[in-house]
Amino acid sequence: MTGSVLAMASDLTGATREDSLPEGSAEAALATPARVALPEKPNAVAPQAVAGAPSAAIDRETPAAPAASRVSPPVAPLPVTWARKVAAGETLDALLVEAGLAAADRAEASLALGAEYDLRRLRPGHAVTVETMPDGTLRSVSLDVEDGVRIEAFFGDRPLVHVVAPDPETVILAGEARVASSIFAALDDAEIPARFAVDLAQMLAGTIDFRRDLDGDETLRLLWKEARVDGETIGEPEIAFAALDLGDALYEIVWPDDGTGRATIYLDGEVVRVFAQPVDGARLSSVFGRRKHPVYGNVRMHTGVDFAAARGTPVRATAAGRVSFIGRRGGYGRVVEIAHGTDTMTRYAHLSAVPDGLAEGQRVAAGDMIGRVGATGTATGPNLHYEVRVDGRPTDPLSDDRLADAVARDAQDGSAVNRLTESRARLEETLASDFASDLPERL
Ligand SMILES: [Zn+2]
Repeated sequence: MTGSVLAMASDLTGATREDSLPEGSAEAALATPARVALPEKPNAVAPQAVAGAPSAAIDRETPAAPAASRVSPPVAPLPVTWARKVAAGETLDALLVEAGLAAADRAEASLALGAEYDLRRLRPGHAVTVETMPDGTLRSVSLDVEDGVRIEAFFGDRPLVHVVAPDPETVILAGEARVASSIFAALDDAEIPARFAVDLAQMLAGTIDFRRDLDGDETLRLLWKEARVDGETIGEPEIAFAALDLGDALYEIVWPDDGTGRATIYLDGEVVRVFAQPVDGARLSSVFGRRKHPVYGNVRMHTGVDFAAARGTPVRATAAGRVSFIGRRGGYGRVVEIAHGTDTMTRYAHLSAVPDGLAEGQRVAAGDMIGRVGATGTATGPNLHYEVRVDGRPTDPLSDDRLADAVARDAQDGSAVNRLTESRARLEETLASDFASDLPERL
């Protein structure tokens, strides 16, 4: 234990991320364990199936039974259990062959489990459990897959399939890093998820020049959340607060716990900008500037940045403003445009859908959902083309902070200051309890 990272159990709940997968798919159900109903196992799982000594169990449960019942065999025969972890390259069918199942049973099991889980996603570490009755009748097949999720199929008169998803515990962690060469290296050295370097770079682009402003004597302190099941981290950690101390300037970023990905950036305790990612956690697939056009093949100016994401993923306003246009614009496909002040505009293109309630002239806040990712217009696949224009000219959204300037004056309010105060207190508290939990090891 390095002392730089610590876990503090928390009773915070409901930290599930916004579901970005198409609704109704099996993946969607698995990605949101908190919303999956947890069915009881059917009564078919009789107590004697798990008790080691059936006759003793009968004795306990029927103390006044006549002596004859004590010598009777158990009413139900015990099922035989076969279980094994999945090895690289193995299919469910191959495992079921090894478990001794006939072709018809294997087909039925694959059909039942495949309805709730994409069986092509089986990989090493997952486990298969098969229960058969002594006469060879198939009773159940269960899959233990990622994130503590179990898919159980019971075979009686007709198959019953359940997805049992654990309720994850939210753990708050804090860490401190000294920035020597890069933010990425500093996080990695301090055992803080290095992926946060991307969040920080995107939020502070245009505010800090990472190459010029960092001289190797900066401290970075972070607070983040992880979801855990049986001590194992599931999903991606989520950043909650960052404080970057440059010596002569203190930058702080607060990400509120509302699933919008919206962040407020402070300099020496004052709001400098409020910014939301246009698509949560999406991969930046193309940057601003001259590039070879993916559809036309010639070199053209790319007037925005592209985020690759699944069709239907929510698209959010990056800053507060007023909706100035909703409709189609040639190769941009379906777009929403938002005016921020008089000279700055953001454009969200290739949308598959726009919320019914959204109308031109309406005010939106940073993080408000204004559409869904699609491939309308000229697009090679589902992606969001996000563009920032100042006086009609496209600017690089990742390095130009005029959008931030345009909205900063709206951002200074009491709740923003309260959020900063709360975040600072939580960081201190979590770092302090890290120190306390390390004491026994040091003595
Ligand atoms: Zn684009």
